Amino acid sequence: MAGGARLQAGEGSEVRFTAEHEMFRQSVRRFVEQEINPHADEWEEAGIFPAHELFRKLGDLGFLGLTYPEEYGGLALDFWYTVVFCEELGRADCSGVPMGITVHTDMCTPALAEHGSDELKKQFLEPAIRGEMVGCIGVSEPDAGSDVASIRTRAVADGDDWVINGRKLYITNGTQADWVCLLARTSEGRGYKGMSLIVVPTNTPGFSVSRKLRKLGNHSSDTAELVLDNVRVPQANTIGPEGMGFILQMQQFQRERLVGAITSYAGMEKTVRDTIEYCRQRRAFGQPLIDNQVIHFRLAELLTEIEALRALCYMAVEQMVAGEDITRLASMAKLKAGRLARQVADECLQFYGGMGYMEETRISRAYRDSRLLSIGGGADEIMLGIIAKTEGMLPGKREQ
Ligand SMILES: Cc1cc2nc3c(=O)[nH]c(=O)nc-3n(C[C@H](O)[C@H](O)[C@H](O)COP(=O)(O)OP(=O)(O)OC[C@H]3O[C@@H](n4cnc5c(N)ncnc54)[C@H](O)[C@@H]3O)c2cc1C
Repeated sequence: MAGGARLQAGEGSEVRFTAEHEMFRQSVRRFVEQEINPHADEWEEAGIFPAHELFRKLGDLGFLGLTYPEEYGGLALDFWYTVVFCEELGRADCSGVPMGITVHTDMCTPALAEHGSDELKKQFLEPAIRGEMVGCIGVSEPDAGSDVASIRTRAVADGDDWVINGRKLYITNGTQADWVCLLARTSEGRGYKGMSLIVVPTNTPGFSVSRKLRKLGNHSSDTAELVLDNVRVPQANTIGPEGMGFILQMQQFQRERLVGAITSYAGMEKTVRDTIEYCRQRRAFGQPLIDNQVIHFRLAELLTEIEALRALCYMAVEQMVAGEDITRLASMAKLKAGRLARQVADECLQFYGGMGYMEETRISRAYRDSRLLSIGGGADEIMLGIIAKTEGMLPGKREQ
Protein backbone atom coordinates (compact mmCIF):
# COMPACT_ATOMS: atom_id res chain seq x y z
CA MET A 1 0.00 0.00 0.00
CA ALA A 2 1.59 3.24 -1.12
CA GLY A 3 1.27 6.23 1.22
CA GLY A 4 -1.46 6.72 3.79
CA ALA A 5 -1.83 4.92 7.06
CA ARG A 6 -0.90 1.35 7.75
CA LEU A 7 -1.81 1.20 11.38
CA GLN A 8 -5.26 0.68 12.76
CA ALA A 9 -6.59 0.74 16.28
CA GLY A 10 -5.91 -2.76 17.53
CA GLU A 11 -7.32 -4.66 20.44
CA GLY A 12 -5.53 -3.71 23.61
CA SER A 13 -3.25 -1.28 21.78
CA GLU A 14 -3.32 2.50 21.79
CA VAL A 15 -5.60 4.22 19.30
CA ARG A 16 -3.71 5.35 16.26
CA PHE A 17 -5.80 5.58 13.11
CA THR A 18 -9.47 4.67 13.27
CA ALA A 19 -11.97 4.77 10.40
CA GLU A 20 -12.73 8.38 11.42
CA HIS A 21 -9.07 9.31 11.12
CA GLU A 22 -9.06 7.78 7.65
CA MET A 23 -12.14 9.73 6.57
CA PHE A 24 -10.44 12.84 7.85
CA ARG A 25 -7.33 11.87 5.85
CA GLN A 26 -9.39 11.80 2.67
CA SER A 27 -10.76 15.29 3.28
CA VAL A 28 -7.30 16.76 3.94
CA ARG A 29 -5.98 14.98 0.84
CA ARG A 30 -8.80 16.48 -1.22
CA PHE A 31 -8.03 19.92 0.19
CA VAL A 32 -4.36 19.63 -0.76
CA GLU A 33 -5.22 18.41 -4.26
CA GLN A 34 -7.90 21.05 -4.88
CA GLU A 35 -6.80 24.12 -2.93
CA ILE A 36 -2.98 23.94 -2.77
CA ASN A 37 -1.45 21.89 -5.58
CA PRO A 38 -3.14 23.74 -8.49
CA HIS A 39 -1.60 26.99 -7.17
CA ALA A 40 1.78 25.71 -5.99
CA ASP A 41 3.74 26.89 -9.06
CA GLU A 42 2.14 30.34 -9.01
CA TRP A 43 2.77 30.81 -5.28
CA GLU A 44 6.36 29.57 -5.55
CA GLU A 45 6.91 32.11 -8.33
CA ALA A 46 5.26 34.88 -6.30
CA GLY A 47 7.33 34.09 -3.19
CA ILE A 48 4.19 34.00 -1.05
CA PHE A 49 0.85 32.23 -0.71
CA PRO A 50 -2.35 34.12 0.19
CA ALA A 51 -2.52 33.06 3.84
CA HIS A 52 -5.75 34.86 4.73
CA GLU A 53 -7.61 33.38 1.77
CA LEU A 54 -6.30 29.85 2.33
CA PHE A 55 -6.66 29.93 6.11
CA ARG A 56 -10.33 30.97 5.83
CA LYS A 57 -10.94 27.83 3.77
CA LEU A 58 -8.99 25.69 6.24
CA GLY A 59 -10.82 27.35 9.13
CA ASP A 60 -14.23 26.67 7.59
CA LEU A 61 -13.35 22.97 7.56
CA GLY A 62 -12.15 23.04 11.18
CA PHE A 63 -8.58 22.15 10.17
CA LEU A 64 -6.92 24.98 12.11
CA GLY A 65 -8.07 23.93 15.56
CA LEU A 66 -7.94 20.15 15.51
CA THR A 67 -6.74 19.62 19.07
CA TYR A 68 -7.85 22.93 20.57
CA PRO A 69 -10.81 23.25 22.98
CA GLU A 70 -14.31 23.50 21.51
CA GLU A 71 -14.85 26.54 23.71
CA TYR A 72 -12.57 28.49 21.36
CA GLY A 73 -13.83 26.93 18.15
CA GLY A 74 -11.48 23.94 18.12
CA LEU A 75 -12.50 20.33 17.55
CA ALA A 76 -10.86 18.89 20.71
CA LEU A 77 -9.64 15.85 18.76
CA ASP A 78 -6.74 13.57 19.69
CA PHE A 79 -3.24 14.35 18.39
CA TRP A 80 -3.41 11.52 15.82
CA TYR A 81 -5.63 13.87 13.78
CA THR A 82 -2.72 16.33 13.71
CA VAL A 83 -0.51 13.46 12.52
CA VAL A 84 -2.94 12.75 9.66
CA PHE A 85 -3.19 16.46 8.86
CA CYS A 86 0.61 16.84 8.67
CA GLU A 87 1.10 13.63 6.68
CA GLU A 88 -1.35 14.84 4.06
CA LEU A 89 0.01 18.40 3.98
CA GLY A 90 3.48 16.93 3.53
CA ARG A 91 2.36 15.41 0.23
CA ALA A 92 1.69 18.88 -1.24
CA ASP A 93 3.62 19.96 -4.33
CA CYS A 94 5.68 22.45 -2.31
CA SER A 95 6.91 22.63 1.29
CA GLY A 96 6.39 26.37 1.80
CA VAL A 97 2.61 26.25 2.14
CA PRO A 98 2.58 23.33 4.61
CA MET A 99 5.21 25.20 6.62
CA GLY A 100 3.11 28.39 6.72
CA ILE A 101 0.05 26.40 7.80
CA THR A 102 1.81 24.37 10.51
CA VAL A 103 3.51 27.48 11.91
CA HIS A 104 -0.02 28.76 12.47
CA THR A 105 -1.56 25.54 13.81
CA ASP A 106 1.28 24.00 15.83
CA MET A 107 4.11 26.49 16.36
CA CYS A 108 2.63 29.86 17.37
CA THR A 109 -0.66 28.75 18.97
CA PRO A 110 0.10 25.82 21.37
CA ALA A 111 1.39 27.97 24.26
CA LEU A 112 -1.50 30.41 23.83
CA ALA A 113 -4.03 27.55 23.84
CA GLU A 114 -2.50 25.92 26.89
CA HIS A 115 -1.41 28.86 29.03
CA GLY A 116 -3.13 32.00 27.69
CA SER A 117 -5.88 33.73 29.65
CA ASP A 118 -9.48 33.26 28.58
CA GLU A 119 -9.59 36.83 27.26
CA LEU A 120 -6.35 36.41 25.28
CA LYS A 121 -7.62 33.17 23.72
CA LYS A 122 -10.91 34.84 22.75
CA GLN A 123 -9.02 37.71 21.17
CA PHE A 124 -6.34 35.76 19.28
CA LEU A 125 -6.86 31.98 19.36
CA GLU A 126 -10.51 31.97 18.31
CA PRO A 127 -9.96 34.06 15.15
CA ALA A 128 -6.80 32.03 14.40
CA ILE A 129 -8.84 28.81 14.55
CA ARG A 130 -11.50 30.35 12.30
CA GLY A 131 -8.75 31.37 9.86
CA GLU A 132 -9.58 35.05 10.18
CA MET A 133 -6.24 35.94 11.75
CA VAL A 134 -2.82 34.65 10.67
CA GLY A 135 -0.25 33.98 13.37
CA CYS A 136 3.52 33.75 13.41
CA ILE A 137 6.21 32.90 15.95
CA GLY A 138 8.89 35.48 16.76
CA VAL A 139 11.86 33.92 18.53
CA SER A 140 14.96 34.27 16.29
CA GLU A 141 16.85 37.56 16.07
CA PRO A 142 19.77 38.88 14.04
CA ASP A 143 22.14 38.02 16.93
CA ALA A 144 20.36 35.03 18.45
CA GLY A 145 19.11 31.95 16.66
CA SER A 146 20.41 28.69 18.12
CA ASP A 147 21.20 30.44 21.39
CA VAL A 148 17.64 31.46 22.27
CA ALA A 149 18.66 32.53 25.77
CA SER A 150 20.65 35.42 24.31
CA ILE A 151 17.76 37.26 22.62
CA ARG A 152 17.80 41.04 23.02
CA THR A 153 14.23 42.09 22.26
CA ARG A 154 13.13 43.82 25.40
CA ALA A 155 9.70 44.51 26.88
CA VAL A 156 9.73 47.16 29.62
CA ALA A 157 6.77 47.56 31.97
CA ASP A 158 5.05 50.95 31.82
CA GLY A 159 1.83 51.11 33.82
CA ASP A 160 -0.30 48.19 32.65
CA ASP A 161 1.58 47.94 29.36
CA TRP A 162 4.73 46.51 27.89
CA VAL A 163 6.81 48.78 25.68
CA ILE A 164 8.73 46.54 23.32
CA ASN A 165 11.88 47.23 21.28
CA GLY A 166 13.86 44.81 19.16
CA ARG A 167 14.12 42.87 15.90
CA LYS A 168 13.01 39.40 14.89
CA LEU A 169 14.57 37.66 11.90
CA TYR A 170 13.49 34.84 9.53
CA ILE A 171 9.86 34.96 10.64
CA THR A 172 7.60 32.63 8.65
CA ASN A 173 4.22 34.22 7.70
CA GLY A 174 5.91 37.45 8.85
CA THR A 175 4.64 39.76 6.10
CA GLN A 176 1.03 38.58 6.48
CA ALA A 177 0.60 37.82 10.16
CA ASP A 178 -2.01 39.61 12.26
CA TRP A 179 -0.24 38.74 15.48
CA VAL A 180 3.13 37.48 16.67
CA CYS A 181 3.73 35.09 19.53
CA LEU A 182 6.83 37.01 20.61
CA LEU A 183 9.60 35.94 22.96
CA ALA A 184 11.02 39.00 24.75
CA ARG A 185 13.19 39.78 27.69
CA THR A 186 10.96 41.20 30.44
CA SER A 187 13.38 41.53 33.34
CA GLU A 188 17.10 42.16 33.64
CA GLY A 189 19.70 39.79 35.01
CA ARG A 190 17.54 36.72 35.40
CA GLY A 191 18.93 34.86 32.39
CA TYR A 192 16.38 32.61 30.74
CA LYS A 193 14.01 33.23 33.67
CA GLY A 194 13.67 36.87 32.60
CA MET A 195 11.74 36.17 29.41
CA SER A 196 8.05 36.14 28.54
CA LEU A 197 5.88 35.13 25.61
CA ILE A 198 3.71 38.05 24.55
CA VAL A 199 1.01 38.26 21.86
CA VAL A 200 1.74 41.33 19.75
CA PRO A 201 -0.86 42.44 17.18
CA THR A 202 0.96 43.55 14.04
CA ASN A 203 -1.26 46.61 13.60
CA THR A 204 0.16 48.14 16.79
CA PRO A 205 1.95 51.47 16.13
CA GLY A 206 5.74 50.97 16.01
CA PHE A 207 5.51 47.48 14.52
CA SER A 208 6.83 47.08 10.99
CA VAL A 209 8.08 44.52 8.49
CA SER A 210 11.49 45.86 7.49
CA ARG A 211 12.04 43.37 4.66
CA LYS A 212 10.73 40.25 3.01
CA LEU A 213 13.63 37.82 2.70
CA ARG A 214 14.61 35.94 -0.46
CA LYS A 215 15.46 32.30 0.20
CA LEU A 216 17.08 29.20 -1.23
CA GLY A 217 13.84 27.22 -1.07
CA ASN A 218 10.33 27.15 0.43
CA HIS A 219 9.62 30.03 -1.94
CA SER A 220 5.84 29.92 -1.49
CA SER A 221 6.27 30.81 2.19
CA ASP A 222 6.96 34.44 3.08
CA THR A 223 9.80 35.04 5.53
CA ALA A 224 10.37 38.43 7.09
CA GLU A 225 12.41 40.60 9.37
CA LEU A 226 10.22 42.35 11.93
CA VAL A 227 11.03 45.57 13.76
CA LEU A 228 9.49 46.62 17.07
CA ASP A 229 10.03 50.27 17.84
CA ASN A 230 8.37 51.30 21.12
CA VAL A 231 5.49 48.92 20.49
CA ARG A 232 2.99 49.24 23.33
CA VAL A 233 0.78 46.27 24.22
CA PRO A 234 -1.14 45.46 27.43
CA GLN A 235 0.75 43.28 29.92
CA ALA A 236 -2.43 41.18 29.81
CA ASN A 237 -1.14 39.94 26.42
CA THR A 238 1.50 37.89 28.26
CA ILE A 239 0.99 34.14 27.81
CA GLY A 240 1.17 32.44 31.21
CA PRO A 241 3.12 33.96 34.09
CA GLU A 242 5.71 36.67 33.43
CA GLY A 243 9.20 35.10 33.36
CA MET A 244 7.99 31.73 32.04
CA GLY A 245 8.45 32.57 28.35
CA PHE A 246 11.65 30.63 27.77
CA ILE A 247 10.24 27.47 29.36
CA LEU A 248 6.93 27.77 27.51
CA GLN A 249 8.77 28.32 24.23
CA MET A 250 10.98 25.28 24.85
CA GLN A 251 7.79 23.23 25.35
CA GLN A 252 6.26 24.77 22.23
CA PHE A 253 9.41 23.84 20.30
CA GLN A 254 8.83 20.14 21.07
CA ARG A 255 5.52 20.17 19.26
CA GLU A 256 7.03 22.27 16.44
CA ARG A 257 9.86 19.77 15.96
CA LEU A 258 7.61 16.73 15.99
CA VAL A 259 5.16 18.32 13.56
CA GLY A 260 8.07 19.31 11.29
CA ALA A 261 9.35 15.74 11.26
CA ILE A 262 5.90 14.26 10.54
CA THR A 263 5.22 16.70 7.71
CA SER A 264 8.60 15.88 6.18
CA TYR A 265 8.45 12.08 5.97
CA ALA A 266 5.20 12.12 4.02
CA GLY A 267 6.86 14.39 1.46
CA MET A 268 9.96 12.18 1.37
CA GLU A 269 7.87 9.10 0.68
CA LYS A 270 6.13 10.87 -2.18
CA THR A 271 9.50 11.93 -3.58
CA VAL A 272 10.80 8.34 -3.55
CA ARG A 273 7.60 6.93 -5.08
CA ASP A 274 7.65 9.57 -7.83
CA THR A 275 11.29 8.64 -8.48
CA ILE A 276 10.43 4.93 -8.71
CA GLU A 277 7.77 5.79 -11.30
CA TYR A 278 10.21 7.95 -13.27
CA CYS A 279 12.87 5.22 -13.21
CA ARG A 280 10.31 2.72 -14.50
CA GLN A 281 9.55 4.91 -17.52
CA ARG A 282 13.06 6.15 -18.28
CA ARG A 283 15.24 3.73 -20.25
CA ALA A 284 19.03 3.64 -20.63
CA PHE A 285 21.24 0.87 -22.06
CA GLY A 286 18.16 -1.01 -23.28
CA GLN A 287 16.37 -1.31 -19.95
CA PRO A 288 14.36 0.81 -17.52
CA LEU A 289 16.58 2.66 -15.03
CA ILE A 290 14.78 0.90 -12.17
CA ASP A 291 16.21 -2.47 -13.33
CA ASN A 292 19.67 -1.37 -12.19
CA GLN A 293 20.20 -3.00 -8.85
CA VAL A 294 22.10 0.00 -7.52
CA ILE A 295 19.00 2.12 -8.12
CA HIS A 296 16.25 -0.15 -6.80
CA PHE A 297 18.39 -1.14 -3.80
CA ARG A 298 19.00 2.51 -2.96
CA LEU A 299 15.32 3.44 -3.30
CA ALA A 300 14.36 0.42 -1.18
CA GLU A 301 16.80 1.57 1.48
CA LEU A 302 15.45 5.11 1.47
CA LEU A 303 11.90 3.79 1.94
CA THR A 304 13.17 1.73 4.87
CA GLU A 305 14.73 4.81 6.46
CA ILE A 306 11.51 6.76 5.94
CA GLU A 307 9.49 4.02 7.66
CA ALA A 308 11.97 4.06 10.56
CA LEU A 309 11.49 7.82 10.89
CA ARG A 310 7.72 7.39 10.77
CA ALA A 311 7.94 4.79 13.57
CA LEU A 312 10.09 7.14 15.65
CA CYS A 313 7.53 9.92 15.18
CA TYR A 314 4.66 7.61 16.14
CA MET A 315 6.54 6.66 19.33
CA ALA A 316 6.91 10.34 20.16
CA VAL A 317 3.21 10.91 19.48
CA GLU A 318 2.30 8.02 21.79
CA GLN A 319 4.40 9.66 24.50
CA MET A 320 2.72 12.99 23.84
CA VAL A 321 -0.77 11.51 23.97
CA ALA A 322 0.18 9.82 27.26
CA GLY A 323 1.18 13.24 28.63
CA GLU A 324 4.86 12.32 28.86
CA ASP A 325 7.87 14.50 28.07
CA ILE A 326 8.68 14.13 24.35
CA THR A 327 11.88 16.19 24.34
CA ARG A 328 14.22 13.27 23.65
CA LEU A 329 12.18 11.58 20.93
CA ALA A 330 11.04 14.83 19.30
CA SER A 331 14.68 15.97 19.06
CA MET A 332 15.71 12.62 17.60
CA ALA A 333 12.85 12.74 15.09
CA LYS A 334 13.74 16.30 14.03
CA LEU A 335 17.43 15.40 13.67
CA LYS A 336 16.71 12.28 11.64
CA ALA A 337 14.12 14.09 9.51
CA GLY A 338 16.51 16.93 8.64
CA ARG A 339 19.27 14.56 7.57
CA LEU A 340 17.04 12.12 5.74
CA ALA A 341 15.17 14.85 3.86
CA ARG A 342 18.46 16.05 2.39
CA GLN A 343 19.57 12.53 1.54
CA VAL A 344 16.27 11.57 -0.11
CA ALA A 345 16.12 14.73 -2.21
CA ASP A 346 19.77 14.50 -3.26
CA GLU A 347 19.76 10.81 -4.16
CA CYS A 348 16.40 10.89 -5.93
CA LEU A 349 17.48 13.94 -7.94
CA GLN A 350 20.52 11.96 -9.06
CA PHE A 351 18.33 9.21 -10.52
CA TYR A 352 16.38 11.79 -12.56
CA GLY A 353 19.62 12.84 -14.27
CA GLY A 354 19.44 16.14 -16.19
CA MET A 355 15.67 16.16 -15.83
CA GLY A 356 16.13 16.36 -12.05
CA TYR A 357 18.12 19.57 -12.44
CA MET A 358 15.29 21.26 -14.36
CA GLU A 359 12.98 23.73 -12.65
CA GLU A 360 9.96 22.02 -14.25
CA THR A 361 10.65 18.78 -12.36
CA ARG A 362 9.27 18.68 -8.82
CA ILE A 363 12.38 16.98 -7.43
CA SER A 364 14.42 20.16 -7.99
CA ARG A 365 12.01 22.03 -5.69
CA ALA A 366 12.14 19.22 -3.11
CA TYR A 367 15.95 19.42 -3.25
CA ARG A 368 15.91 23.15 -2.43
CA ASP A 369 13.16 22.89 0.17
CA SER A 370 14.74 19.93 1.97
CA ARG A 371 17.74 21.98 3.11
CA LEU A 372 15.75 23.94 5.68
CA LEU A 373 14.82 21.15 8.07
CA SER A 374 18.38 20.74 9.40
CA ILE A 375 18.45 24.47 10.28
CA GLY A 376 14.97 25.85 11.10
CA GLY A 377 13.29 25.12 14.45
CA GLY A 378 16.68 24.24 15.96
CA ALA A 379 19.69 23.13 13.92
CA ASP A 380 20.89 19.50 13.85
CA GLU A 381 23.68 20.38 16.27
CA ILE A 382 21.17 21.79 18.76
CA MET A 383 19.18 18.53 18.51
CA LEU A 384 22.38 16.57 19.14
CA GLY A 385 23.10 18.74 22.19
CA ILE A 386 19.60 18.12 23.60
CA ILE A 387 19.84 14.38 22.99
CA ALA A 388 23.29 14.30 24.59
CA LYS A 389 21.89 16.25 27.55
CA THR A 390 19.00 13.82 28.06
CA GLU A 391 21.59 11.03 28.04
CA GLY A 392 23.73 12.84 30.64
CA MET A 393 26.66 13.20 28.23
CA LEU A 394 27.18 16.97 28.33
CA PRO A 395 30.40 18.20 29.97
CA GLY A 396 29.84 18.81 33.65
CA LYS A 397 27.04 16.24 33.73
CA ARG A 398 29.23 13.15 33.55
CA GLU A 399 29.24 10.76 36.46
CA GLN A 400 32.49 11.04 38.49
C1 LIG B 1 13.18 29.67 6.13
C2 LIG B 1 13.30 29.88 7.60
C3 LIG B 1 12.16 30.07 8.37
C4 LIG B 1 12.28 30.32 9.73
N1 LIG B 1 11.15 30.60 10.46
C5 LIG B 1 11.27 31.04 11.74
C6 LIG B 1 10.13 31.52 12.46
O1 LIG B 1 9.00 31.48 11.96
N2 LIG B 1 10.32 31.99 13.71
C7 LIG B 1 11.55 32.04 14.31
O2 LIG B 1 11.65 32.48 15.44
N3 LIG B 1 12.66 31.59 13.65
C8 LIG B 1 12.54 31.10 12.39
N4 LIG B 1 13.66 30.68 11.70
C9 LIG B 1 14.96 30.76 12.35
C10 LIG B 1 15.57 29.41 12.69
O3 LIG B 1 14.90 28.82 13.78
C11 LIG B 1 17.05 29.66 12.95
O4 LIG B 1 17.64 29.96 11.70
C12 LIG B 1 17.75 28.49 13.60
O5 LIG B 1 17.32 28.30 14.91
C13 LIG B 1 19.29 28.67 13.60
O6 LIG B 1 19.64 29.92 14.11
P1 LIG B 1 20.65 30.86 13.29
O7 LIG B 1 20.17 30.93 11.89
O8 LIG B 1 20.79 32.13 14.02
O9 LIG B 1 22.01 30.08 13.29
P2 LIG B 1 23.21 30.25 14.33
O10 LIG B 1 22.70 30.21 15.72
O11 LIG B 1 24.05 31.39 13.91
O12 LIG B 1 24.02 28.89 14.07
C14 LIG B 1 24.63 28.64 12.81
C15 LIG B 1 25.04 27.20 12.74
O13 LIG B 1 26.02 26.95 13.74
C16 LIG B 1 25.91 25.65 14.22
N5 LIG B 1 25.75 25.70 15.68
C17 LIG B 1 25.05 26.58 16.41
N6 LIG B 1 25.17 26.31 17.72
C18 LIG B 1 25.97 25.23 17.83
C19 LIG B 1 26.47 24.45 18.92
N7 LIG B 1 26.13 24.74 20.19
N8 LIG B 1 27.27 23.40 18.64
C20 LIG B 1 27.60 23.09 17.37
N9 LIG B 1 27.16 23.79 16.30
C21 LIG B 1 26.36 24.83 16.52
C22 LIG B 1 24.68 25.02 13.52
O14 LIG B 1 25.14 24.26 12.42
C23 LIG B 1 23.93 26.21 13.03
O15 LIG B 1 23.16 25.92 11.87
C24 LIG B 1 13.55 30.36 10.35
C25 LIG B 1 14.70 30.12 9.58
C26 LIG B 1 14.59 29.91 8.23
C27 LIG B 1 15.86 29.71 7.43
